[in-house]
Amino acid sequence: MAVLGAHVSVAGGLHKAFKRGQDIHCDSLQIFVKNANRWQAKPLETTAAETFKQQRLTHNTPPVIAHASYLINLCSDKADTLEKSRHALLDELQRCDQLGLDGLVLHPGAHVGQGEEAGLRLITQSLNNVLAKHTGNAKILLENTAGQGSVLGYRFEQLASIITHLDTPERVGICLDTCHAFAAGYPLNNKNSYEQLIDTIHSSVGLNKLLAVHLNDSKFACGERKDRHESIGEGEIGLDFFARLVHDARFVDVPMILETPLGDDAQGHARDLVTLRDL
Ligand code: ZN
Ligand code: MN
Ligand code: MN
Repeated sequence: MAVLGAHVSVAGGLHKAFKRGQDIHCDSLQIFVKNANRWQAKPLETTAAETFKQQRLTHNTPPVIAHASYLINLCSDKADTLEKSRHALLDELQRCDQLGLDGLVLHPGAHVGQGEEAGLRLITQSLNNVLAKHTGNAKILLENTAGQGSVLGYRFEQLASIITHLDTPERVGICLDTCHAFAAGYPLNNKNSYEQLIDTIHSSVGLNKLLAVHLNDSKFACGERKDRHESIGEGEIGLDFFARLVHDARFVDVPMILETPLGDDAQGHARDLVTLRDL
């Protein structure tokens, strides 16, 4: 079975993620390495990074990935936002290096009217620009999107187009978000749809690029381009798809992370983990 986990809060300190993950039986974690809704953040202190690494060891060294700030847009049409985005991405990658994380999940960007081709080219340029300055090991994991507004990355061919035009494509992988794929129009709810999706990923970016998964059911129907996550089994995707995915031997080492609603009792992820392990 896959390495199942969840996005966990780092309120009170980055190292607190491990206890929170353990409490709900996570085998992998996703965190924010800075406030995801702000540009600025204090530098990460060496002592905080050491405490984090220490706690990771005492919790059996689970795979940990980070999710980048929502403000970053690598194909903004505004010069200052583009510059801030590139700077912020480099800063987050360096935080990941300091913490010993393997990957940083990133939304490719929104072309805001410039057109899809121009947007994809600008994203590639931005990534080349950032990666040229990044000397650490953390990889960028481009997340497929629901395709809302002018957001790019809603087809796996778009992610492939970005990656193949990079100077160092080996430093970028992808993160499959199941809700986003479904919302973007990949039908995950019929008999052949699991293999069809995997074939699509195989023939576009390549399965070796699939380095993380976001396990989310979808509140809205296929193709509605609405990014609204639902608890596993309670949305439109259904359990069959998730059963195939978490038991696929090709992805046993891939961290699969819940970003589903926590619910009034904040136990949503704990319940979803039980559901997935029962499949
Ligand atoms: Zn995301
Ligand atoms: Mn996601
Ligand atoms: Mn989403």
